[in-house]
Amino acid sequence: MEQDGSMNLSKMNFDVSEEQALMLEQIDAACKEFRPIEDRYYLDRKVNDQVRPFFAKAHLLGLPVSRKYGDGQGADMVTYALAIERIGREGTGVRTFFSVHMALGEMTVQHWGTEEQKDRILTAASRGDAILAFGLTEPNAGSDPAALTTYFEEKGGRYVISGQKMWISLGSSSKYVLVFAYPKGKREGMCGFIVDTKSPGYRAEMIHHKLGLPTADTSTVYLDGVEVAKEDMLGPPGKGMSVALSGLMNGRFSVAAGCVGVIQDCLDESVKYAGVRFQHGKPIGKHQLVQRHIGLMATNLEAAKLLLLKAAFVKQKYEEDPTNLGLRDATDLWCARAKYFAANASFDAANRAVQIFGANGYSFEGRPARHFADTRVTMIYEGANEIMEQKLALGALGKGFEAYS
Ligand SMILES: Cc1cc2nc3c(=O)[nH]c(=O)nc-3n(C[C@H](O)[C@H](O)[C@H](O)COP(=O)(O)OP(=O)(O)OC[C@H]3O[C@@H](n4cnc5c(N)ncnc54)[C@H](O)[C@@H]3O)c2cc1C
Repeated sequence: MEQDGSMNLSKMNFDVSEEQALMLEQIDAACKEFRPIEDRYYLDRKVNDQVRPFFAKAHLLGLPVSRKYGDGQGADMVTYALAIERIGREGTGVRTFFSVHMALGEMTVQHWGTEEQKDRILTAASRGDAILAFGLTEPNAGSDPAALTTYFEEKGGRYVISGQKMWISLGSSSKYVLVFAYPKGKREGMCGFIVDTKSPGYRAEMIHHKLGLPTADTSTVYLDGVEVAKEDMLGPPGKGMSVALSGLMNGRFSVAAGCVGVIQDCLDESVKYAGVRFQHGKPIGKHQLVQRHIGLMATNLEAAKLLLLKAAFVKQKYEEDPTNLGLRDATDLWCARAKYFAANASFDAANRAVQIFGANGYSFEGRPARHFADTRVTMIYEGANEIMEQKLALGALGKGFEAYS
């Protein structure tokens, strides 16, 4: 099933415009300035509440948003990928903020929202006045979102939502959460909603003691009769699953980009260290078994980046032709390929970087240990590895070979 046969690599061009290149330079500068702030929060193991104000001031919270709205930067998908890759080098905690707010949030509202929703939500989101989160997962609905039990009913011209969401990034620090729910008493007709976290009945509790991502807000969300205005349904009635799946596709693309950044940072740190750490009378970079780690990391970096860029190229075509279902399916497949490969390669790179640093790699004072703890989640969220493997196989086997429906 080669849905995108016309898009072979020889026809691709990953150049970014001069204006977009300037934006990438601005992101690089902002990331350098932000690093010591994130370092401090990481070592204190505290959620970094400076991401929003810092990057809002730099006008970098609306990268994929059309210039029509607020601080929207109108980044094309290649530029977006390169931007998130750069942010990913700073760590998966900071990068998760961007992926959730921009890919799961802004891109999804931009695709599915009404003109009024886009104007209201994207204007505020791109300026950092309203951070967006994505509430799909529940205690008993993870890889199988169709199993969710959050429900809504219509009362007095409004929707009233009740249920519990689990593992929601930015659940405690966002202004709006995209929430998915079934009509009360039904197991079909899922709908998406834009829920204001200031509404009565919305409560979020941070999840502590995580394996990694100490600087990221991950929360349990309780919805106890939360009222939502009629105009805050996201997407057509009954199309909530399509909205959710398109959000996850955006999220996977962003995770893939962040993971490329992690591999890059692990490689950069390892190359530096291998040149200055001496054992047995020479820099460890001259020992062939250490070279093996570095060579594999460097090769995986290039492979992950090419997959990401191809996903970006295909996704850009889809953004320009959003009703083309063939392009949608191709984008879904390429985003899954890029995310799967980059997630695994980022964890492998972090593991190799820890090994190259020896005992110094075992301390959170250094970057390898943080990447090792933090990037592990990329093999779980936005579609766990096993779910991605089924998607990759379906891409080769074709329709009729779905592992589940
Ligand atoms: C830090 C963090 C942040 C997150 N942020 C968000 C967020 O912002 N919004 C949100 O909605 N969710 C979020 N999640 C939830 C995340 O998307 C889910 O954890 C993920 O979808 C997997 O679901 P699960 O954890 O319930 O695992 P399960 O679905 O219970 O899976 C457990 C294991 O079984 C495997 N498995 C399940 N079904 C199959 C199958 N059919 N075939 C083969 N293997 C299978 C899985 O691959 C996995 O290995 C976050 C999670 C974490 C850890």
